[in-house]
Amino acid sequence: MEQFPNCPKCGSEYTYQDGALYICPMCGHEWSDIEPAAEEVKIVRDANGNILQDGDSVTVIKDLKVKGSSSVVKIGTKVKNIRLVDGDHDIDCRIDGFGEMSLKSEFVKKA
Ligand SMILES: [Zn+2]
Repeated sequence: MEQFPNCPKCGSEYTYQDGALYICPMCGHEWSDIEPAAEEVKIVRDANGNILQDGDSVTVIKDLKVKGSSSVVKIGTKVKNIRLVDGDHDIDCRIDGFGEMSLKSEFVKKA
């Protein structure tokens, strides 16, 4: 007989399989081992090495030319409610007077 994994929630060994799911009758927990156990989280750090998270506020530490325009985001500009994204520019945000922008985490510091 196939050995099912113990319930990750209550540790019960009386688990059974139903399709792609494992079910624990003891606590009712259902889970699947097809999903990755933990989502791989990319850690984005600011210029000082502080870890940034979605929703953080940051300050620009360098004058940044805005791509496709002559505008410059000035050093000291506060940026609220950043969103971390994958890519070369790893911060998405909205800056007053500029609109949607992508920034590099190395040019900001946590406010
Ligand atoms: Zn359980």
